[in-house]
Amino acid sequence: MLHVPESKVARARFPVIDIHTHISWAASSKNGVFLGEKMQYLAEPEELLQVMNRKNLRTMVDLTGGIGEGLKETIRKYQSAHPGRFIAFTEPWWGRTNEPGYPQFQADEIAKARQAGAYGLKVLKTLGLYLRQGITTGPLVRIDDRRFDPMWEACGALKMPVAIHISDPEAFFLPIDRFNERFEELNNHPDWSFYDHDFPSNAELLEARNRMFARHPRTQFIALHVGNDAENLGYVSECMERFPNMTIELAARIGELGRQPRAARKFFDKYQDRIHFGTDAVPHGTDTPQQVFGDELYEIYFRFLETEDEYFDYAPAPVPPQGRWRIYGLGLPESILRKVYYENAARLLGLSS
Ligand SMILES: [Zn+2]
Repeated sequence: MLHVPESKVARARFPVIDIHTHISWAASSKNGVFLGEKMQYLAEPEELLQVMNRKNLRTMVDLTGGIGEGLKETIRKYQSAHPGRFIAFTEPWWGRTNEPGYPQFQADEIAKARQAGAYGLKVLKTLGLYLRQGITTGPLVRIDDRRFDPMWEACGALKMPVAIHISDPEAFFLPIDRFNERFEELNNHPDWSFYDHDFPSNAELLEARNRMFARHPRTQFIALHVGNDAENLGYVSECMERFPNMTIELAARIGELGRQPRAARKFFDKYQDRIHFGTDAVPHGTDTPQQVFGDELYEIYFRFLETEDEYFDYAPAPVPPQGRWRIYGLGLPESILRKVYYENAARLLGLSS
């Protein structure tokens, strides 16, 4: 029964780089670990460009661009065919992480990916939650495992930012019961629960990440999903202070930011040079309404950032998919909008603005 103004933001006020999308995936995976070079493509560039042009989305960064021949195919299909509109990141060769010589092999592959045209490296939550000593069996591999040091260093030397997803929402580490604020979501996706079994706690995962960040000060890290602790902006701020090589992006967390609009607004003021626009958009990703690529998704993000609208849905879905609450717009000034939409990412990726 609330009567408040409702804005429709059909087009972003300034050009946008979406630094977190998935247009491609590795074709095969086992127990949450992507394996092999073969890729699957979720949409043709022409289909994506129509939405991009309508929304003022200049560039989509496809984080899961793949490895080896798969990466080359991704780059040919999107980035080379439409310069400036698509950018691909490469990924680790998870399937080889238990082979002798992996650390140097992986560092060399980063250099090859750079040569092929990749702009950065994406690390999925595979590291910390799925990858095991025997790839899909045995104990979990720790995020700060030394075998990855040459990979992080190669990214620093080649000026390739590392987009890293570590851990998940705090509620995913708690029992799926009536006290869990994301009960419905976990009920729909029981495989997203990291409660119990042999999983480390959310705090342990973030601390392992921090030890790794500290060891590689010359490498730029984009800590995805608001540093993977959007529920606790105090902690994310502490990390931002500790690690000048850390930036963050917003993907799939406007539901968190928008339920604490005053703290979020202060966070944007303070870190306006280190926040990127991202959505985690997946073309035809019907499984997760908060991530379905399309006009509706972008309009919600733009409304959240640009307007002071109150109490609106954070996802294009009849029921809020990441917890039953609604959000409040931040009404960011133009100077911050320009940075978050475009300038911060352009600087990090080495694009001309
Ligand atoms: Zn993602």
